[in-house]
Amino acid sequence: MDTESVLNIGFDDTDSPTGMCTTFLAYKIVDLLQKQKTEFLDFPKLIRFNPNIPWKTRGNGAVSLKIKTNQPSKIKKQIKNLVSKYSDTKNGANPGLVFFESDSIPSEFTKFSNLALWQLINRNNAKKFVKKNNLDFYYEGNGQGLIGAISAIGYDFSDHTLELLSYRKKRKFGKERIISADSVKKMQENTFPYTFNSFDTKKSRVLIMPHGPDPVFYGVRGENVNSLVTATKILQSNEKLDGYMIFKSNQGTGDHLKNELNSKTMKPYASGTLIGIVSNTPKIAKGGHVFFTVTSKNHEFWCAVYKETGISTIASNLIIGDKISVGGGVRKASKNFPRIINLEFIKIISLEKNLSKTNPICKKCDKKMKSKGRNQGFQCIKCGAKNLKKTTIEIPRKIKKQLYIPKISAHRHLTRPSQRTGKINKTIAFDNSQSWFCVYEK
Ligand code: ATP
Repeated sequence: MDTESVLNIGFDDTDSPTGMCTTFLAYKIVDLLQKQKTEFLDFPKLIRFNPNIPWKTRGNGAVSLKIKTNQPSKIKKQIKNLVSKYSDTKNGANPGLVFFESDSIPSEFTKFSNLALWQLINRNNAKKFVKKNNLDFYYEGNGQGLIGAISAIGYDFSDHTLELLSYRKKRKFGKERIISADSVKKMQENTFPYTFNSFDTKKSRVLIMPHGPDPVFYGVRGENVNSLVTATKILQSNEKLDGYMIFKSNQGTGDHLKNELNSKTMKPYASGTLIGIVSNTPKIAKGGHVFFTVTSKNHEFWCAVYKETGISTIASNLIIGDKISVGGGVRKASKNFPRIINLEFIKIISLEKNLSKTNPICKKCDKKMKSKGRNQGFQCIKCGAKNLKKTTIEIPRKIKKQLYIPKISAHRHLTRPSQRTGKINKTIAFDNSQSWFCVYEK
C-alpha cells in the first residue's frame, strides 16, 4: 500500500461540440471516489480560462480535484481509465490529465494558471511543464487539454463563486430540456443575492439551461452551498435527474480582465483591461456596432462594442477627452481591421465637457441672432441688436461616471454581474458534511 498523500488531479478538453462535458466526467470520477470513501479536501473546481482562445468548445472550463488518499497509484489508474472512456476524442476532444501529489501548490503552477486566464499558451509549453516538473500526466490527441489540466490545479482564487450543476440520465442526453420558467423566476427571487444570472427578467428568459447535447440539465450559480441546494428544491421539472455536484469556480469574478493590456501584452486573443483617454469620435457601423480609439501610455488602441452587448449606445455617447477604463478580449487584425479590443465593460472615470459653439442669443428678444456673413458678426432680425462672437454652450452628457456592463443575456461565464460589484467571496470553507455531491436514488 502507498503512503497517505494529498493528490491534486486536473483535467480538461474531454468534450466536443457534439457531446460530453468535462464537468460530467468530474461527476463520474467523484462518484467513483466517493464509493471508495475517499476524503475530499476541497470542492471540485471548475475554472474558466481565457474566454477568447479560438479553440474552446464553449466556456473554456477545466476541472481539478483535491483528495487525500493512501492509494494514489490505484486512483490515478482508475481516473486515467475514466478520462479515456469518457473523452469524445472521435469528435475532436484533446484530453489532458495531470496529477500532482502535494498539499501546497508551487508558484510555477500558479504562474502558468494566471497566464492561461488571459493569454494564449502554446501547448508545447504545457508538455515542457509536465516534463520539467516530473509530473504524472496523460493525454490523447494533440495534448491541448494539458494546458487546462495544469492550470486548474494551479488556480489561485482571489474571489470565488459556486455552481451547482445537475446532470441528466443517459437516456435523456440530446433531448429537449423542459423546466418551469416560473419556478426559475421564483428561485431567483427567493435566493437573491446568493444566486445570480438565473433568469433574465427583462426578456423573461431562463438562463440556467444549456442548449447543446451535453449531460448538464441546469447550472445554478451562487455564493454558498445552502442557497444552491435550496434552489434545486424550488426549481420544477418533470424530468428525473441523475444527481448534482457543486463546484467552486471563478465564474462571475471578472478575473480574466484583471491584467493590464498595453502595447506588449495586447496580443491576439489576450484578455485584459486598460485605462486611457478617448481619442477619436466613436463611429456607429452597420448593425449598430460602435468603434472608437483610446490612447493609453502613448499608444492608440481600437475598441469595438457590439450591439448585442447592450452597451453600444454608451460607447456611441463617448467624446474625445473622456477618461475611461475598458476591458475585453483582443481580436486579431484582419485585412480590413487592425487589432481591436472587443469590450466587455466600460467604466467612465471622468467626462469631458461637451462644448459647442452657436450663434449668440439676443438678450432683449431671447431669439437666436443671424449671421451677417463671414467675419461680420451676428444680428437680431427682430430688434437689430448686434453681437460679434459666437457663444459657447454646454451640451448635457447622456452617460454618467459609472461602470457599464453588458446586459445579462450577453454575459460570459467570467463576467462579474452587477450584484457582485465589489464583492469578494473568500470565506466559504469546504465542509465535507455539506451536501455538495448527490446522486439521486434510482
Ligand atoms: P466546456 O466549457 O464545455 O468545458 P471548453 O470551452 O472548456 O468546453 P475545451 O474543450 O476544454 O472547451 O477546450 C479548451 C482548450 O483550450 C483546452 O484544451 C485547454 O487546455 C485549452 N486552453 C485553455 N486555456 C488556454 C490558453 N490560455 N491558451 C491556450 N490554450 C488554452
